[in-house]
Amino acid sequence: MSRQALDELKRQIPLLDYLQAHDWQPARQLSRGRLMGLCLLHSDHKPSFLVDPSKSLFYCYGCGRGGDVIRFAELYHQVKFPQALALLQQWRGWPPLLHEAAGFYRIQLHRYGDAVAYLHQRGVRSPELIEHMRIGYAPGGGCLRRWLTLLGYPLPALLQAGLVTAIGYDAYMHRIVFPLEGNLYGRSLSASAPPHRFLPGAKGGLYGWEQVRRFPDVILVEGLFDYAVLWQAGFHNVTCALGNHLNAYQFRQLCDGMRTVYLTFDVDANGSGQQASQSLACRLRARGITARCVVLPDGHDPNSFFVQGGEARQFQALLEAAQP
Ligand SMILES: [Zn+2]
Repeated sequence: MSRQALDELKRQIPLLDYLQAHDWQPARQLSRGRLMGLCLLHSDHKPSFLVDPSKSLFYCYGCGRGGDVIRFAELYHQVKFPQALALLQQWRGWPPLLHEAAGFYRIQLHRYGDAVAYLHQRGVRSPELIEHMRIGYAPGGGCLRRWLTLLGYPLPALLQAGLVTAIGYDAYMHRIVFPLEGNLYGRSLSASAPPHRFLPGAKGGLYGWEQVRRFPDVILVEGLFDYAVLWQAGFHNVTCALGNHLNAYQFRQLCDGMRTVYLTFDVDANGSGQQASQSLACRLRARGITARCVVLPDGHDPNSFFVQGGEARQFQALLEAAQP
C-alpha cells in the first residue's frame, strides 16, 4: 500500500471513532481537546490512555504504547501490520464490490437446481434461513465478472478483491456462498475442489455476533452449515468461528460480557475438535466466562446431527448435559 493510500485510510478512520466503536469512553477531558480514559490494551484501573483526536494519536502511560489507528488495530487485535490494514478496511464498511457480488450470487441460487439440492442435502430448507444468512450460489465461468464489468467495475479491482483469477475466470465456481463481515465464504459442491474457500483477507469476527452477544447463553460452532441447522431449529443464540481455532478478535468478542458459552465443535476421530474445545474452554474460564463442552453422538457435528433426523429437544438435552 502506498504512503498516500495509508494516509487516506487514516483520514477515513479517525482514531476516536474506531476507539468508541470498541467501547472506549473518555473518563476526562484535558487541554487542547485531548482525552484520557482506561487503556484497552492492558488491564487498566486508573485512566492512563491519552487520545489526541485532532492528531488521531494515542499514548498509554500504563503500558507505554502509542501510535496511530493502524498501530492501535495491530495491538488490539494482536495482528501484524497487513492484517491490521485488512481489518481497518473491513471496518470502514463492506466494500461496495463485495456487496454487489453477494447480491449477484443470491439471485443465482434459485436458478441452479444442483445448488438448491445441495442445500437440502445439508439440511438447509427454510426460506427465512436462506434470507437471514443471505446465501447465494457462484456458478463460475465468467458470469460474475461480466455482471460486475457491466456495472462499471474495472478488472484490476475484481482481481484485487480476489473475485476473479489472474486468467480472468470467476474465482468461485460451483460454490454455495455466504457473505461474512468483509469477506465471502465459498463451499464447493464438487468433491474434487477444495471444500472451503475465502477471499484474500481476514475471516473477520464471530458470525452474526451483533445479534448474538445480548444472549446470556451462546452456542459456538465450527461451520456455517452447523450454524444454519441450529438457527433453523430455533436456536438463534448460535454463532460460528469458521473453524475450531478462534482468532484474537473472535476470542475478545466471546469475552466481551458475562455469558455461558456452549462449545459445540465436531467430534473428530483424531480428537482435534475435542482438544480445541478443551483448550478454548480453559482460556475462556481464565477470563471469567463459563464454558461448557457439548458432547455430540460419535462422529457427528451439529449439521449431521440435524440432517440425520435429530430434533431441537434432543439437542436441547445435549446442551443441558454439557459439562462445565
Ligand atoms: Zn495501556
